[in-house]
Amino acid sequence: MSNIVAIVGRPNVGKSTLFNRFLERREAIVDATSGVTRDRHYGKSDWNGVEFTVIDTGGYEVNSEDVFQGEITKQVQLAVDEATSIIFMLNVHEGLTDTDQEIYEMLRRANKPVYIVINKADSAKEELAATEFYQLGIDKYYTLSSATGSGTGELLDDIVKDFPTDEYKDPFEGLPKITIAGRPNVGKSTLTNALLDVERNIVTDVAGTTRDSIQTLYNKFGYEFVLVDTAGMRRKAKVKEDLEFYSVMRSVRSIEYSDVVIIMVDATLGWESQDMNIFGLAQKNRKGIVIVVNKWDLVEKDTNTTRDFEAKIKEKIGQFTDIPVLFISALTKQRILKAVEVAMEVYENRAKKIKTSKLNEVMLPVFEATPPPALKGKYVKIKYCVQLPTPSPQFVFFCNLPQYVKEAYKRFTENQLRKHFGFTGVPIEIYFRQK
Ligand code: GDP
Ligand code: GDP
Repeated sequence: MSNIVAIVGRPNVGKSTLFNRFLERREAIVDATSGVTRDRHYGKSDWNGVEFTVIDTGGYEVNSEDVFQGEITKQVQLAVDEATSIIFMLNVHEGLTDTDQEIYEMLRRANKPVYIVINKADSAKEELAATEFYQLGIDKYYTLSSATGSGTGELLDDIVKDFPTDEYKDPFEGLPKITIAGRPNVGKSTLTNALLDVERNIVTDVAGTTRDSIQTLYNKFGYEFVLVDTAGMRRKAKVKEDLEFYSVMRSVRSIEYSDVVIIMVDATLGWESQDMNIFGLAQKNRKGIVIVVNKWDLVEKDTNTTRDFEAKIKEKIGQFTDIPVLFISALTKQRILKAVEVAMEVYENRAKKIKTSKLNEVMLPVFEATPPPALKGKYVKIKYCVQLPTPSPQFVFFCNLPQYVKEAYKRFTENQLRKHFGFTGVPIEIYFRQK
């Protein structure tokens, strides 16, 4: 399971600066080539080959002083719930404040490694000033200059060294993992319970609680699969009008841990930015996606209602629209088994491997008939293609002039793959490479 490093602290201590620094290195290597867009609050990094996810919990704007206190508490709680390791950032220029003390009190009670980081220590004088923070009653802190990056190496060495070793053996290894994600009150628990209700013979893996994840094995309806949930998700939102950022962040880990994400949308509210964020997260992590519109019992319907609703969602989600959309009621249990069935189909699509011979037999004539448009009198000739042995479908097309293959043609290629081989619900990566 993925390790998550959360950065907490008051506004302006330098959290985003450090966050960006963590992401930069990696982006230069990985994301620039794959065209992955960056999320403001969430991203992947690695240190000495160890991958981890970084969350900048401070990404949320705060206005009044009142709201501010509540925000900090939520940030810290989120970090405590979801992170493997917590970086608590302080600002040497401002010294130790009451809010810092309060945050530290919360963190101390968490049973997780906390790294105290004194930021903006750009000079020796500031290094010395940092000793003031011993008042927190700590034995060790790290001084850092997020702006220049000095000090980050030592910090990362220790963080990575302390990551839990994977002694935990997943008892459900190899089984399809599904998570239900969505905004608060959309009906996630109702669906989970409805499935539990149908299925009496369930096994819940509580061993995973060391990592705060709950897995429940289902083996009925002719399928065997595991529903992944995190403690953070299952716990009821403490505040009614839970903020977008927090509910998305809470889904991060269970999404990363799953093969298929059921994105649940509220029929009475429609597809909103929060749904879009969850969608982006699933897509970025190359997970299978099923959209279920819940509370369909509350909607007044005529013949075109489902068609129009689906069209509206697809209009908003962008280019990747080959995704199943289902209309269910978790409350009345209408079509809930269909949702499971479709999620399993998407799982199969994601795991699908097309034989090289078959792939070439189908795709080469397609390229023959509709080659990439010539550029500056040069013709692109696609000679050969393979599917990579990755968990989600990725294809490499070998050709003479890969730099001449434009976005539109890549899309055409993707659509052809979808048409001929059926990858509904699954993000596909396509690379053109020099042969
Ligand atoms: P956040 O609100 O905690 O995310 O803080 P930001 O990362 O947005 O940083 C707040 C301000 O502090 C910005 O103007 C940064 O340029 C500045 N800053 C961040 N890190 C450092 C540092 O190491 N040294 C100095 N001098 N300034 C920094
Ligand atoms: P969660 O926060 O996503 O886990 O949402 P819950 O499962 O707790 O559901 C929130 C509220 O919506 C509860 O009052 C449910 O009874 C109600 N609800 C859930 N699914 C449906 C549905 O399909 N139809 C109707 N009418 N209400 C539903």
